[in-house]
Amino acid sequence: MIIAAGINMEIEKTGHSRLNEKDWRALPFGSVFADHMLEMHYEDGIWQAPRIVPFGPVPMLPSISALHYGQTIFEGMKAYRDVAGRSLLFRPKDHLARLNKSAERLCMPAIPEDVFIKSLEQLIKLDEAWVPSDADSALYLRPIYFATDPFIGVKVSTTYSLYILTCPVHKFYTKPVNVWVERNHARAAEGGVGYVKTAGNYARSMLSGKKAKEQGYDVVLWLDATHRRFVEEFSTMNAFFVIDDFVVTPRLSSTILAGITRDTIIHLLREQGIQVFEREVSIDELHDASQRGLLKEAFGSGTAAVVMPVASLTHEGRLMQLLDPATWQIMNTVAPKLAAIRAGQEPDAHNWIHYIDV
Ligand SMILES: *Cc1c(COP(=O)(O)O)cnc(C)c1O
Repeated sequence: MIIAAGINMEIEKTGHSRLNEKDWRALPFGSVFADHMLEMHYEDGIWQAPRIVPFGPVPMLPSISALHYGQTIFEGMKAYRDVAGRSLLFRPKDHLARLNKSAERLCMPAIPEDVFIKSLEQLIKLDEAWVPSDADSALYLRPIYFATDPFIGVKVSTTYSLYILTCPVHKFYTKPVNVWVERNHARAAEGGVGYVKTAGNYARSMLSGKKAKEQGYDVVLWLDATHRRFVEEFSTMNAFFVIDDFVVTPRLSSTILAGITRDTIIHLLREQGIQVFEREVSIDELHDASQRGLLKEAFGSGTAAVVMPVASLTHEGRLMQLLDPATWQIMNTVAPKLAAIRAGQEPDAHNWIHYIDV
C-alpha cells in the first residue's frame, strides 16, 4: 500500500493484472473493467480519504437507502490518448460540476474538485496501460455515487459512497439507428429530475426501449411530457437536427440532461460559422422539413458514442427517412474536428483537455 503524493490517499495495487487475460479489444461496451477502481466514502459529515483498490465486489447491506429510494447518481466521461501517446481526460471538471449539480438536486453532499481530479489522475496513471491508443477507442470512466444509510424510511442519507470504475471501450454504434418517437410515456416532467444523471431516469425509459426494440427500432426519442409535441432527447443522448442550412437542438430545461458533448458540438459548430439554434423543436416541424426534403441530418450526442447518426424517425406511423449519413456535411465536419482536438492535432482553444501529469 502506498500513499500518493499531493492528497491524502491510499493505493492498494492488484497482485494480478487482468490486462493480458482477455482479448478486451473484442468485447462489448461496458463489460470489461480495468484492474483498479477508486472509492471514497462520506461519513461523519465529511469525505474520507479516497482509496484506489483492485476492481471487485463491494460490501453493502440490502437496507441501503439508494436501493430503496433511488438517491443515486452517476457520470460518464472518457480518458483518451493523444497522437503522442499521452493520456488525457476530456472536460473532467465539467463532468464533476454536473455530478455536483445532480448531487444538489438529490440532497447529496458535493464532491471537492481537487480531491476528485487528483484521485482520478492517480487512477488513470495506475491503469494507464488500459487506456487504448486507437482513435475510435477510449477508457470510459463511470463515477457512481449513492446513499448508504442502512435504514428503511424516506429521509436524506447521512452516509454515501463514490466509486469510479473504468472500462476500455470501442466505437459504440456501428451503423445509423432507426428511431422510435415515444408518444405514450414521458421521460421527464418540468420541475422533476430529467436534468439529473440519476438511475430512475433510465429505469423509466426501459419499457419504451424494450417496445421499440420489439418493433425493430434501435433507439427512443422522447417528447415533452405536457404536449407530447416538442422533442427533448434520446434516452442517453442529446438530439441535433440539420434543417436546410441551420442546426437546431432542443433548448436546455429541467427535463433535459445538459450533455457536455452537446455543449462541445455547439461551440465547434458556431466557430465554423454554422448557425445553431437552441430552441423548441416540434415533431411536426421535423416531419414538415422531412416532407419538403429539408431534414438533412439528425444525430445524437453523448460521451459514449460521441455522435450517433439517425437513419429514420418514426412518429405515430409517420416515417421520416434520412439520407445516407456518409453524405452529411455537418456531422461529418464536427465529429472529426472534435476527434482532432482530442488527439492533440488541433489547438484546444477551450481548455477541454486535461493531461494526466502525475
Ligand atoms: C449522459 C447523458 C447525455 C449525454 O451527456 P454527455 O455529457 O454528452 O455524455 C444525454 N442525455 C442523457 C439522458 C444522459 O444521461
